[in-house]
Amino acid sequence: MPILSPDTAKFQGIVPVLIIGGGGCGLTAALSAKQAGAEVLVLERDHTALGTTAMSTGLIPGPGSRFQKAKGIDDTPEMFAADVMAKTKGATDPDMALHLSREGAPTVEWLADYCKVPLSLVDSFLYPGHSKMRMHGTPNRTGSELMGALHQAVERESIDIILEAPVSDLFADDGGHVHGARITRPDGTVEDIGCKAMILACCGFAGSREMLAQYIPEIMDATFFGHPGNKGDAIAWGRALGAAVADIHSYQGHGGLAYGQGIPILWAHIVRGGFQVNANGVRFSNEARGYSEQAVDIVAQPGHWAWSIFDQKIHDAMKEFDDYQDAIKADCIRHAETVDELCQVTGLPPAFKTTLADVAEMAAGKKKDSYGRDFTTGWTLTPPYKAVRVSGALFHTQGGLVVDKDARVLRTDRSPLPNLFAGGGAARGISGPGNSGYLAGNGLLAATALGRLAGRAAAALVA
Ligand SMILES: Cc1cc2nc3c(=O)[nH]c(=O)nc-3n(C[C@H](O)[C@H](O)[C@H](O)COP(=O)(O)OP(=O)(O)OC[C@H]3O[C@@H](n4cnc5c(N)ncnc54)[C@H](O)[C@@H]3O)c2cc1C
Repeated sequence: MPILSPDTAKFQGIVPVLIIGGGGCGLTAALSAKQAGAEVLVLERDHTALGTTAMSTGLIPGPGSRFQKAKGIDDTPEMFAADVMAKTKGATDPDMALHLSREGAPTVEWLADYCKVPLSLVDSFLYPGHSKMRMHGTPNRTGSELMGALHQAVERESIDIILEAPVSDLFADDGGHVHGARITRPDGTVEDIGCKAMILACCGFAGSREMLAQYIPEIMDATFFGHPGNKGDAIAWGRALGAAVADIHSYQGHGGLAYGQGIPILWAHIVRGGFQVNANGVRFSNEARGYSEQAVDIVAQPGHWAWSIFDQKIHDAMKEFDDYQDAIKADCIRHAETVDELCQVTGLPPAFKTTLADVAEMAAGKKKDSYGRDFTTGWTLTPPYKAVRVSGALFHTQGGLVVDKDARVLRTDRSPLPNLFAGGGAARGISGPGNSGYLAGNGLLAATALGRLAGRAAAALVA
């Protein structure tokens, strides 16, 4: 991923704003730059521009949004920022946490109004670590619907995307001014495209086994369920240009990927009272503290898998999510009328019956959990029961290029590079340094809010 001298480029044209990566951040940035009056071009390595975003649940936090107000939910950016700081145990940048919290509601409303993404508030359950219901999603709560709506907006605005256009190199001068990008096509032909400003929207390095081994070895045995094309290019280019990189060990894991089928089972099934056991029928963690950190706990269990145990009530409530409907159709969910049948359908040993009885006592407030979970906040499980075998998964990385409030990439001395911006997984997130700071929504907040800010600032720069 070298940085080449602009003197060696054969630019076929110069676009005002060049965006690398056509996922959620890239398309948001493109729409925002176009709205602000700049011509833009998006370069996407794949033959369709979908990225991690289309694989996601598509939920975006918008504290204080009009959707919350309409449901009588009293929320503020400050409350959300406090949740972010609590989840990261104070280990993320408080200014950026508050900044992105403040951008959440305007971004959600802009996505709904300008981009015509059909968003509504998820008001059926509270994600772990969130003090208010503030997640906004499309009707079936899928990232593919989000990307579908963004693509329609891109078409309406006549924004060009070049597909099968993996950017292999950037052109920049000694002052860090970026002049353009080189695409190396699958057949080896190269094309050079010049620009006045560039936005890196090509996510993190979850698709690079080498970088994972170097920075996050603990997650190497997890199932990879992210976008394989995200190889850490933004980080490599940024570093070569003298940019600061932070929280490189940070990632979003998930403790609920249907084993062998790769369907995410949303954490609502745990929040509402479900729990997880290993092959020995015993619990191994406080599942409710968050789904990200649960991934590595599952990886540490025999066979690297666990059973999620819940009941018919939770099963019915989960049907609001498209992913869960897919899990039903794919026959991932086991059904049992009794505890004995649950042991039969899962193959769990008799020790599991003691675990289930313990959970019932904890839900009734008669016993304390040795892992510190408060089971009284969820529903009490009653027969019939449901179970799904899950693996721990890696979704995407959260460390990346340090950016300022306009998404400008900063050097190690915190001065901005002249015309380079980054957002989404390419930028440092607000999840702190490890696996436990990821709060639901941090990924798409960084993708959409930083994308919108980057697009606007890049357009202003080239005006
Ligand atoms: C199953 C799942 C569920 C999730 N659910 C949520 C959720 O509900 N809420 C939330 O906030 N987050 C969620 N996330 C995380 C969220 O999806 C990501 O944080 C977000 O999509 C990142 O957006 P992005 O635009 O930065 O990256 P992407 O959407 O991955 O887009 C990056 C694009 O860049 C392209 N690219 C990479 N390198 C190059 C190159 N050299 N040249 C050209 N193109 C390149 C890639 O092909 C890709 O299309 C989820 C993730 C997963 C996997």
